[in-house]
Amino acid sequence: MANESRAQGFSTRAIHAGQAADPATGATVVPIYATSTFTQEAPGEHKGFEYSRSGNPTRAALETCLAALEEGEQGLAFASGLAATTAVLSLFRPGDEVVAASDLYGGTYRLLERVFRPWGLAPRYTDDPRPEGFARVITPVTRLVWIETPTNPLLQVLDIAAIAELAHRAGALLAVDNTFASPYLQQPLRLGADLVVHSTTKYLGGHSDVVGGAVIGRRDLLEPIRFYQNAAGAVPGPFDAWLVLRGLKTLAIRMERHCANAAHLAAWLAEQRAGVERVYYPGLPSHPGHDLARRQMRDFGGMISVRLAGGAEAARRLLTRTRLFSLAESLGGVESLISHPATMTHASIPAEVRGARGIDDGLVRLSVGVEDYDDLRDDLQQALADGGS
Ligand SMILES: *Cc1c(COP(=O)(O)O)cnc(C)c1O
Repeated sequence: MANESRAQGFSTRAIHAGQAADPATGATVVPIYATSTFTQEAPGEHKGFEYSRSGNPTRAALETCLAALEEGEQGLAFASGLAATTAVLSLFRPGDEVVAASDLYGGTYRLLERVFRPWGLAPRYTDDPRPEGFARVITPVTRLVWIETPTNPLLQVLDIAAIAELAHRAGALLAVDNTFASPYLQQPLRLGADLVVHSTTKYLGGHSDVVGGAVIGRRDLLEPIRFYQNAAGAVPGPFDAWLVLRGLKTLAIRMERHCANAAHLAAWLAEQRAGVERVYYPGLPSHPGHDLARRQMRDFGGMISVRLAGGAEAARRLLTRTRLFSLAESLGGVESLISHPATMTHASIPAEVRGARGIDDGLVRLSVGVEDYDDLRDDLQQALADGGS
């Protein structure tokens, strides 16, 4: 079964993996199994499900599909991306070191610093996201290297294969938060990563209507994480699992439109002389990670960051003047969003740390949706225009 689905194309897997007709009723679409428990024939004699924290058929379908899309042996679904991250960190013990690039999702940084550091894990960061930067901070007690690529919000591109090799040479695992790229654009397990983590809240769900997370990887690594999933209990309910599963079916075509819109917008923004100081998008040939992104990704993604020349004031103007781009946290939905990392997604990072990392008050992040390009460009054009201020 697994081999058969692995040989199929991405979209076919997204629509069919784990989603055979319902054995009980023939329902073509995986039903929402809204049940906490499952009736047994005799004690221990059941159809594979006992209690929905331990396993639920809707969630199982999602987990199978996620594994097929990332080409991992097993997938596990969680109640949020951070619940998935917590489950990965549960593999480690006090005294173990985790190495990460400093351009990191704010919630992951907060989890490492405020929950796991007091618990005994020792996070270390590199400001240099090249393999050499990681080589400098990895030590003999490093057990995990944690990366995102492209990073949030500066869209740096990290070399997954090279960093995997470094981690393995040190006896550590490499986990990749693949939320920004999605498996359609990049499959870290094929490049040597050991674990892939997702906030399914973003591109995988794709419609800004559900919060969820996932971990995908080899069966031997997933087994203790599956134990933790059941023991700690941060599982998604069947309706949430179903929403993510429905989102996955259109992931490929959504990503194609996200990428096309973002590529055009980034090129347009880079041409704007007034007000725009710098455009961060891996698809721009001027982006330092452009060549690596070409090798490692199918396309360049739907996220753009822009540094405005006018700092906080210019950012505030843009953020309050767009009409189609909603001022909101999150990303990866069909609707375009605009956000201010310094005061929103990355507010949990102390200001001096943030500033040193380039996440200053003039930085604005765009999650480019799948609306019509001309309308998105017109919206940014009117919001950036000088009139009236
Ligand atoms: C949103 C996000 C998370 C956290 O996911 P939640 O579903 O909000 O818990 C982790 N990593 C990245 C890159 C994210 O964008």
